[in-house]
Amino acid sequence: MPDRLHPRGTRVKPKKRDTGAKRPDKRGSTLLLILLLTASFLLIHAPWATAATITGYTPIFRAGHDTTGTLQIAIRRFRQNGLPRLLIVNPATLATATAKESDLDFGKPVDSATLKATPYLRALDRHTSPPYHLQNDGARHADQPVDGAFLTVDMCPSVRPFEREFFAAVGRLPQGKGGPVPVAVAMTGRWLEQHPKELAWLKEQATDGRLAITWVNHSFNHPYDPRVPLERTFLLTPGTDLEREVLATEVLLLENGLTPSPYFRFPGLVADGTLIRKLRELGLIPLGADAWLAKGETPEKGSFILVHGNGNEPPGIKKALTLFTSGHLHLLPLARAFTTSP
Ligand SMILES: [Zn+2]
Repeated sequence: MPDRLHPRGTRVKPKKRDTGAKRPDKRGSTLLLILLLTASFLLIHAPWATAATITGYTPIFRAGHDTTGTLQIAIRRFRQNGLPRLLIVNPATLATATAKESDLDFGKPVDSATLKATPYLRALDRHTSPPYHLQNDGARHADQPVDGAFLTVDMCPSVRPFEREFFAAVGRLPQGKGGPVPVAVAMTGRWLEQHPKELAWLKEQATDGRLAITWVNHSFNHPYDPRVPLERTFLLTPGTDLEREVLATEVLLLENGLTPSPYFRFPGLVADGTLIRKLRELGLIPLGADAWLAKGETPEKGSFILVHGNGNEPPGIKKALTLFTSGHLHLLPLARAFTTSP
């Protein structure tokens, strides 16, 4: 397993070569010291530094109540800059957030029947139950009638330029009530690490109110070998550790100030019963698709539309843009596939 899965900070950057430049004089050293002190002050106090260090990232599954008395399920425990925090899922809305560990009250008992009846647990149970299919298992369509479809955009590792224009076009789509356009971005750790500028641009679309992004986990490494059968590639590649693939991407999202959602898209939509059951234990709902546009599938109401935003599948992007210009595609946030509330 490549060592990129180890917590960040353990990787050793190659040392810059000594250029043999002339030594700084005394005034230069003082200036350098001031610069260093300023830089370390900024690193400690700047707001963008608060997301920086995640350690001890561990899966848990514990129901509790937040400070407003709302039922929440903690699915991860970790330390952020040394402080104990949790990743929580609101089981009624499937919204995720991070919270101080001390803000969750685990003392009040939660009835297991109540918990099982929540939209989150119902979706989790329904979409991780047998029979298991090698391809396209999990949720492929809304669980109830809805007046729109769900756009999911996969960001598998790629060296091609990403589909900036496509994301911009999605952001310009007219929405019933105005506001940001919902889109689920299925992110791999590798793409995220290799495209900091593109990620910053995507984040900007969210902060500027053009896109409402649900960050779906698409594994860290997204292994793939076209020469072997499906049973032995993607996350079924021998030696692949699903938990590490899942958690490393979540850590990276959090370190970049993004909140992981309770959804997972298997690379290639390929999985077996063992992987699906492990995903269930990690509290994540697998997402398939019933409208993979590049494969000629056509979306209808409730469809999970799949395109690639990493530049690897232009026909799907072209088809999506045609659909958008027809004006008949109303996009919904992913949670609406599993909940009745908006
Ligand atoms: Zn992929």
